[in-house]
Amino acid sequence: MAELMDRVAIVTGGSRGIGRATSLALAREGATVIACARNAERLSTLPAEAADQRCIGKLVTRALDVRESDKVEKWVDEIASDFGRIDILVNNAGITRDGLVMNMTDEQFDDVVATNLRSVFQLTRAVAKHMVRARFGRIVNITSISGIMGNAGQANYAASKAGVIGLTKSVAKELSRRGVTCNAVAPGFIKTDMTNVLSEKVKEQVRPLIPLQRFGEPEEVAAAIAFLASPASGYITGQVLVVDGGLHM
Ligand code: NAP
Repeated sequence: MAELMDRVAIVTGGSRGIGRATSLALAREGATVIACARNAERLSTLPAEAADQRCIGKLVTRALDVRESDKVEKWVDEIASDFGRIDILVNNAGITRDGLVMNMTDEQFDDVVATNLRSVFQLTRAVAKHMVRARFGRIVNITSISGIMGNAGQANYAASKAGVIGLTKSVAKELSRRGVTCNAVAPGFIKTDMTNVLSEKVKEQVRPLIPLQRFGEPEEVAAAIAFLASPASGYITGQVLVVDGGLHM
């Protein structure tokens, strides 16, 4: 317990699903968590939930649209200045805009890549200077088994998530000698708004393919992210931790 006391963490996409569960998990371990998303209203209930869960860390919310590339660096620098440090970055914000490749528009492709991949690069670049100066950092990027296996109807999404894996490994190689680790977590089917849009028929088709025979809970992914942000993972970098009930093996 309290493994992240005095650590300052940024979690993107912290208002819902995996990012919300991760924000709470890190705050339970004592971190000061800055959770961001586009919708400030959805974020606004997070501090009260942290208090209900008796989190010993602090939960702060700050709106950011991670696609707004001209704002990212300033947003990160303000956090470093307000909280004195940035120890952990969880690049979790993500979207889908599914469609068959023959029908996919440039806008569908670009929107997904800007949200799921370009933002990971820009936030990483922005926090890296603070982490390198401190000679400590933990970066955890959320990819997907779609980025490993590919998925029909998700050429944009799978490409963005495969890009996150390449970025993760490259950043790990660049920054490890400065005390910064960079890893990825690849969820399978997790019960969030992202998978709630799937029809019951599709869910029934997918479930038997998962060796553990069920969709995962956001908290089960959050636990893996919290591990990669914790001192226990100090000798792990450049890895992709798959959290998918055994679907991809
Ligand atoms: P979710 O429930 O749809 O939540 C997505 C989060 O990202 C929300 O907090 C959303 O908040 C935020 N977000 C989206 N666009 C944003 C933007 N431009 N700027 C800032 N925040 C933004 O999704 P989830 O299932 O928790 O997914 C979290 C991550 O896990 C994603 O990267 C996703 O690709 C990955 N993943 C999920 C699954 C799954 O089965 N659920 C599987 C594999 C990978 P706002 O809408 O308010 O901005």
